[in-house]
Amino acid sequence: MHEAPNIVGFKEFALASRLSDALDGLTVFVDRDTAMAAIAESAIGAARGARDFIYVTVSTGLGGTIVSGGRMLRGTTNTAGEIGHFPVAFQLDTTRDAAADLPRCGCGSYGCAESFAAGRNLADAYGVADAAEVFTAWARGDPRATAIVIRAERALANLAVGLVNMLNPALIVVGGSIADNQPGHVLEPMRRAIAERAFRAPASAVRVVPAALGGDVGMLGAVFAARERLSGRGEWFL
Ligand SMILES: [Zn+2]
Repeated sequence: MHEAPNIVGFKEFALASRLSDALDGLTVFVDRDTAMAAIAESAIGAARGARDFIYVTVSTGLGGTIVSGGRMLRGTTNTAGEIGHFPVAFQLDTTRDAAADLPRCGCGSYGCAESFAAGRNLADAYGVADAAEVFTAWARGDPRATAIVIRAERALANLAVGLVNMLNPALIVVGGSIADNQPGHVLEPMRRAIAERAFRAPASAVRVVPAALGGDVGMLGAVFAARERLSGRGEWFL
């Protein structure tokens, strides 16, 4: 495990071998929750049969996994798909610092989609413990909550347009607690932005759909992944 902005204390930590030692040598695989979710959604969920799809989770954090041409995109260091840390904003005034007025992201960068749209960041921006309170305040017309929610929607909109133009997926499967509870603030702004601003060919070929498997999606995927890896199969997601 290299680093986890939302989990304190896990930096360059040999989690698999430590767990394996603690479990009397049991074989342990470590992978990202979004990779497991993508496997489960692909096997028995919303992405069944899709060879090009992106799994997006909008939850405490904002993450994803990219499946392209029937294979999971892993990258050189096995860290591809961290779409929450795609920068979607910068300070336009060139006399000021590029990061001015933008929220710092937990990853150390600025302008990341996660820093606007993830649950923890929404709650922090409003000064409450739970993002649900921000949406409740939005519903009663609170101006500060409204601004925070609109920024989150715009960040997700920019991210969606970028994903469609860059990766040409057939499906964007959106899960996570914020997406499940607030689809009108998550899936809808993504759909609208794709229709309005993405290239026409990929925009007309993509559907933004809710995840099908609910809160246990990562656990389900982990079961599939462990079984396939142990049997020497599972090449598409390795
Ligand atoms: Zn970031």
